[in-house]
Amino acid sequence: MGRIDVCVVGSANLDLVARATRLPGPGETVVGSDFAEHFGGKGLNQVVAAARAGARCAFIASVGDDAAGAALRQVLLDDGVDDSAVQVVDVASGRALIGVDEQGENSIIVVPGANAMLGRAAIERAASLLEGSRVVLAQLEVPLEAVIAALTLAHAGGATTVLNPAPAQELPPELLAVCDIVVPNEHEAELVGGVGALLRSGVATVVVTEGRRGAHIVTGGSSDRVDAFAVDAVDTTGAGDAFCGAMCAHLAKGASLVDAVHAGAAAGALATTVPGAIPSLPQAAAIQALLETA
Ligand code: ADP
Repeated sequence: MGRIDVCVVGSANLDLVARATRLPGPGETVVGSDFAEHFGGKGLNQVVAAARAGARCAFIASVGDDAAGAALRQVLLDDGVDDSAVQVVDVASGRALIGVDEQGENSIIVVPGANAMLGRAAIERAASLLEGSRVVLAQLEVPLEAVIAALTLAHAGGATTVLNPAPAQELPPELLAVCDIVVPNEHEAELVGGVGALLRSGVATVVVTEGRRGAHIVTGGSSDRVDAFAVDAVDTTGAGDAFCGAMCAHLAKGASLVDAVHAGAAAGALATTVPGAIPSLPQAAAIQALLETA
């Protein structure tokens, strides 16, 4: 395979969603009305988003030696993502058990499972992939030491490194030192200490996504606002993942940061028009068509 445009390091989960009139209390059983399985994990969503946006992609991840792991790898193959750096371990694939009540309120148990087994060794085995990719994108649903090791190798190899700091947690200085671009949503930006703190830690660029208000690009010297595209949103699940994947795909193809953020905003907007995460991630042609309306 030729040079990879976007290599994503992150999680893959199978989400099990049960609906019931109300959520059970401790020790209680309630009868549900319907059940569905969805593929997810921010890593999987973002690599599929980048691939659909037109990038040649690879995924570094860890799945179980089980049916869910095989199904998760099939999702990658369906979108043409190189899965040769996805390790298969003797631990159950990551799962999220999600209960949803009549009001849409949910309660979730996430079991990282195989995702927690993504360690330094798996990253080191993928060193040439990380060093040879144009853009390397990571989130925080896999062990921090794997994220740090991956972005360190990528940064040293000359890749553009992008971190989506979700779910938010404290970011150690050795991680920030190897991030070119950090992409938090508003909530995460606050939890990681604010945009100013990120810039002071040596991050060159922060892109804050602000839901239907669009996105904000902040660098040391300037600040630019990119408006959201007006769409009829039905489900915002996956908007942030669509944004990150499409932004990175466009950066890898040589777009300027502002143009890449516009593409991210278009992909994020389109993702809100379809329920779910993976099913809602738009193809390059749809992103291009929306960009042309601006
Ligand atoms: P997250 O899903 O991580 O919380 P956001 O909600 O900020 O991320 O969404 C990511 C991007 O998707 C936004 O910056 C915006 O460009 C786009 N987006 C999200 N919600 C909408 C919406 N309702 N209408 C149009 N664009 C949206």
